[in-house]
Parts: sequence; C-alpha cells; structure tokens
Amino acid sequence: VNHPSHPALLSALRAALGPSHVIDEGDKSAWERDWRKRWNGKALAVVRPASAAEVAATVRLCAQHGVSIVPQGGNTGLVGGGVPDDSGTQVLLSLGRMNRVRGIDRANLTMTVDAGCVLQALQQAADDAGLLFPLSLAAEGSCTIGGNLATNAGGTQVLRYGNARELCLGLEVVTAQGEVWDGLSGLRKDNTGYDLRDLFIGSEGTLGIITGATLKLFPRPAASLTALATCGSLQQCVALLGLAQGRLGAGLTGFEVMNEFSLGLVRQHFPQLQQPLPASPWTALMEYADTDGEANARTRFEGLLESALEAGLIDDAAVAESLAQSASMWHLRESIPLAQSEEGLNVKHDIALPVSAIPAFCERTDAALQAAFPGIRLVNFGHLGDGNLHYNVQCPPGADAREFLARHEPAVNHIVYDAVQALAGSFSAEHGVGVLKRDELVERKSPVAVGMMRAIKSALDPSGLLNPGRVL
Ligand SMILES: Cc1cc2nc3c(=O)[nH]c(=O)nc-3n(C[C@H](O)[C@H](O)[C@H](O)COP(=O)(O)OP(=O)(O)OC[C@H]3O[C@@H](n4cnc5c(N)ncnc54)[C@H](O)[C@@H]3O)c2cc1C
Repeated sequence: VNHPSHPALLSALRAALGPSHVIDEGDKSAWERDWRKRWNGKALAVVRPASAAEVAATVRLCAQHGVSIVPQGGNTGLVGGGVPDDSGTQVLLSLGRMNRVRGIDRANLTMTVDAGCVLQALQQAADDAGLLFPLSLAAEGSCTIGGNLATNAGGTQVLRYGNARELCLGLEVVTAQGEVWDGLSGLRKDNTGYDLRDLFIGSEGTLGIITGATLKLFPRPAASLTALATCGSLQQCVALLGLAQGRLGAGLTGFEVMNEFSLGLVRQHFPQLQQPLPASPWTALMEYADTDGEANARTRFEGLLESALEAGLIDDAAVAESLAQSASMWHLRESIPLAQSEEGLNVKHDIALPVSAIPAFCERTDAALQAAFPGIRLVNFGHLGDGNLHYNVQCPPGADAREFLARHEPAVNHIVYDAVQALAGSFSAEHGVGVLKRDELVERKSPVAVGMMRAIKSALDPSGLLNPGRVL
C-alpha cells in the first residue's frame, strides 16, 4: 500500500541514483514554478539522474509505484508543460545533470549530445569545432536541447535552418516502460519504417523522455550582418520580406518584426538599451549570412536596403557596423518577452499563419479586440519570415493585469483563435500545447487528428505515466 509520500519509492530512487539526487524536502521552487510564474506546482520529489540508464531506472520505479513523471530541462517553457501539478504526487525528473557533448563528427557534420545540455553550451561546442549549430532563441542561456526537441522549438534562424525537428537526425529516448531506445543515428536518409524520432519531437514529454540527440551542424558563414529597418505598415514588412528573399536567397537567415508598442516597452523597462532608429509603427530586424566574406555581404545587404528605400517599403535603416552592434540589435528583440513580464501578466499567443495572411489577420483582430476591450495594448512581434507572431494582449493601462486575465482570457483567446482558424493558421506555432492550450487542441484540431494522437499516446504510454494532462 502506498503512503501518500511514497517512502518506499523515494528510498528505492535514492538507492538507484544516490541520496543527494532525490530531493523531497526544502525549497524546490526553482523546479516547481514555471518561467512565467503562472503555474506553481508541488512535486513529490525532484529526481536528477545522470544517465539514460538512471532515467530508465527512475521510470521503472515510478511505474511500479503508479507515480507519474514530469520531465524538465531548463524550465523555460511557456505553456505550463514542464512543472508538476499541485497534487504533490508527481516526480519531477530534471535532466540538468545530463550535460555532456558525447562527440562531434566533423566529416558527417553532426554532434551527439546529452539531452540536458544547455543550448548555448551546444552553440559554443559547435563554434569551438569551427562549425555552426544554428538553433537560437532568447532562452538559450537556460533552455536545454531535450526541451527544445520536446517542444520542437523554433527561434530566430528557422527561415534558413528550420525548427529543432529539422536540426535533429537521431534520438535516444527512455520509453514509458523504462526501456532505452537508441535511435542516435547520424543518417540523413533512412526510410526503414515509421519515423519514431519525429514522433517524440514535439511530444512535450508525453510519449517518452529524450536523453540524447544527434544534431546537424553547418559550416560557419564567413560573415553575418544584422540590420534594422522601419516600416509604416505590416503590409510593407511583408513586401520587404519578399524583396529580401528574392535578393538574398538562402543568405537571409532571420527576419523578425516588432510593433511600436513592444519596442516602447523595452524603452520603458530597459532604458539603457540603445534603439538606433526612431519609433515607427513597425521595425524589422534582418540577418544575412554570406559564405564570401564581409565586403560582399555589405554590398549585397546595403543594396537590398537601398532598393527597399527607393521602393518606399522602408523609411529608415541601420546596418550594424560591428558584432557588438549586431548583438545589441538582437538584444532589443530578445528583451521584449522580459519587458512584457516587467509590465505584468498578459494573454500570450504564439500563432502561425501563411505570411500572406498576416496583415489581414492583424487588421481584423486588432479591431475586434479593441471593440471588445477598449484601451487594450498589443505586444505584437515575432518571426515574420516563418509566418509566426507572438500576438500578446496586455490589459488597458492602469488595469489590474491578473484580474484582467482571470476575467477575460477565454474571451480574448476566442477572438484571436477564431481569426487564426478562419485564415488557416495554427494556435501554437512554437511554444506547444502544455496545459495552457490543451482545450484548444481538442476544440480546434480535427477529431480525426485528435483520435490518432490519443491512439499513439495510449499505445506508447498505456498507464498515462508520462506528463499526464499535458497536450491531450
Ligand atoms: C525568453 C524566452 C524566449 C523564448 N523564445 C522561444 C522561441 O523563440 N522559440 C521557441 O520555440 N520557444 C521559445 N521559448 C519557449 C521554448 O519552448 C523554450 O525556451 C525551450 O524550447 C524549452 O526548453 P527547456 O529545456 O527550458 O524545456 P522545459 O521548459 O523544461 O520543458 C518544456 C517541455 O518539454 C518537456 N521536456 C523537457 N525536457 C524533456 C526531455 N528531455 N524529454 C522529454 N520531454 C522534455 C517538458 O515536460 C515540457 O513539457 C522561449 C522561452 C523564453 C522564456
């Protein structure tokens, strides 16, 4: 018979992993509270295995005791998927100790790593080998590759290199039965049955625990340039994107947009950050990488901006003169989520639409939201090149943000997601479903799709041991 605190399970876990790696007392809030401070869970224990074998042992022990498991990497997820519920009955499995680069194969352009490696450390490891691992996002100093793969993270380089899914060739996964599946392949071609790797990528810890990955590397570009440009409308940003794609081809690695309000929040909360261009309805951030070197890159990039000025697509532009200037341009963009959280809670959306539909979406949805909630503020920014906007809704000035969310979040979501659906978009482009968007999934995906998802979940995890209540 299981005592509510499962002493038998805890002592078996201590015997398997070492006593200091099973934490059931003291302050566990770093693991129990999410990055947005929206979900405050309570774990039976935090368990920190050091290898795939220890993860497998943890899963088998938890299965024997009927205790469910929430996998966690860097705890930077934004949909409540990586923190335990508040029942005090779930084991939080942190991959943080699994942080070894297992090997780099230069000729094959691959790197095999533990799932708990922090993304920035992997970028550095690739760089140290004279190569590039292009996955890049504002949380890169804390998020882990296991979390990136579990959420199929996107980031700022998707336009050129794809999502985390496209950057992964092989996986090692611990199944809900506590077996280790070694799928660490470095092959770029392998048509031998169902693609299990792609099933686990984006499954948010509900189908298996990712313990290792083989990742794609790329030659480092000879030069990389960043520019900011101001546009009078979103339509002009879309036209600028088209011009840039035509002129720069695959060299265009990033194309982001930020509305005036989002850069205003950065000015307000981080006044020390330089904003090189005057305030404008929209600011585009572009990155161009060239294999021929800096002089060529500058000629092509500046040529594009001159054409855009002549065509009336942009009002003003600034090309970074140094790596430091380039970094500070990206820093502006990446400070928006932090400036928003300084401003207070907001209703976050992470939507995808065909790029062509984005101006119409914003025009209609801005108007519908203003009509329903006068004074509402829109923190609209994102990866326009990928058709992905973080279309976030902040309460009117002076209103209580928490109360606004408690009262109006469902109605706000309804307006936004109905408009997304009408234009054949997605209610979650990057962040995943987690707890936050579980109801949307059932409501807005086709019943056929939801039925297949449920069948996969019950085939791989029949007892509902892994991250129950997430995604489905
Ligand atoms: C400032 C900021 C900026 C961000 N920018 C972007 C962005 O540009 N693009 C983007 O896509 N996302 C972005 N995100 C969200 C993004 O999902 C995460 O940053 C990242 O991918 C999650 O990694 P993590 O290690 O922190 O995962 P966690 O938060 O720990 O977990 C996320 C989910 O994955 C599961 N999980 C974690 N590790 C494993 C594992 N090893 N095996 C199985 N399941 C696992 C968890 O159970 C949870 O469901 C941002 C977040 C922040 C805070």
